[in-house]
Amino acid sequence: MKSRALSEILDALTQTAFFSENQDDGKVRCYACAHRCTLKPGQRGICLMRFNQEGELRAPWGYVAAANIDPIEKKPFMHFLPGASAMTFGMLGCNFHCDFCQNWVSSQALRDPASNGAGRYVEEITPEELVAYAQHSGTRIIASSYNEPLITSEWAVDIFKLAREAGLYCVYVSNGFATPEILHALQPYLHGMKIDLKCMSDPHYRELGGSLQVVLDSISLAHSLGMWVEVVTLVIPDFNDSNEELWDAAKSIASISADIPWHVTAFYPTYKHTQSPPTSAEILQRAADIGQEAGLRYVYAGNLPGRVGSLEDTYCSQCNTLLIERHGYSVFKNVLAGTGQCPKCGTKIAGVWG
Ligand code: SF4
Repeated sequence: MKSRALSEILDALTQTAFFSENQDDGKVRCYACAHRCTLKPGQRGICLMRFNQEGELRAPWGYVAAANIDPIEKKPFMHFLPGASAMTFGMLGCNFHCDFCQNWVSSQALRDPASNGAGRYVEEITPEELVAYAQHSGTRIIASSYNEPLITSEWAVDIFKLAREAGLYCVYVSNGFATPEILHALQPYLHGMKIDLKCMSDPHYRELGGSLQVVLDSISLAHSLGMWVEVVTLVIPDFNDSNEELWDAAKSIASISADIPWHVTAFYPTYKHTQSPPTSAEILQRAADIGQEAGLRYVYAGNLPGRVGSLEDTYCSQCNTLLIERHGYSVFKNVLAGTGQCPKCGTKIAGVWG
């Protein structure tokens, strides 16, 4: 399928954006993400999915490129209804262009010609149908993931309104390149955010299409708005795995709250980033040691199930009792369900427990 054909398919599946402001001369300013694109009629935003059509910003609406029932541990969230499943939907496109993206066929649609085939995943659907799918599947959570949810926030909000009425929890799996305005607008709908902290080098962040300080500010604001926040760093050898950079990341998170779980996850060579080797269990152990040394109470190692010892499990931050035992995305034991309290010492563990 040619790029032009894909853009025609996607442009037809849009509605008027409401996370934008009209300006003079038919220009519109989008604030769904921190790029804050100002677009003249006919122009597309950096994400390529939102565009100015005759003075009106159009935003993706009315389709999914994927909708699956996943364990919440896969997002990953470790302190958010452990063992629950999440109906997870995604659209196409991203405001970043990370060369190590695992979902690049979806995320780089309209940017990388190799993604042109992504159009075959597009399925028209309504918010009502998606929420019904979640309910019939017995999930307790709806997640916007796979591509960057910020750029398709109008669609997510329309789904989340219905989901909340149905008693479901709603979360974003995001790169955190958000504006304060969009986080405030999403706050009534979002129970949780998984935010990537990809590195602590601003030049590296700019190569990916973002900015370090914006992401740190988003973590802080989402936390202070009362969303449950977990932070993920994909640890890539020779990119972000120096002791200094890992220490900076852990201290930055701990300065917001020592209760924010930090996931250090293993990289595999993929897409255009094939120069780094896969992350070893030893590197993840070193990163986790640094996180704990920096004061974080809950540090997890991901993507290497069974190879990282106790770093898949949750322990009481006070008395070190094993509270949740996991292997990969499976939960074998959970003594926190409902109360979130350590049964031995009574300490309340931060999180959403049911
Ligand atoms: S979502 Fe971000 S990249 Fe896309 S148009 Fe809006 S400000 Fe620009």
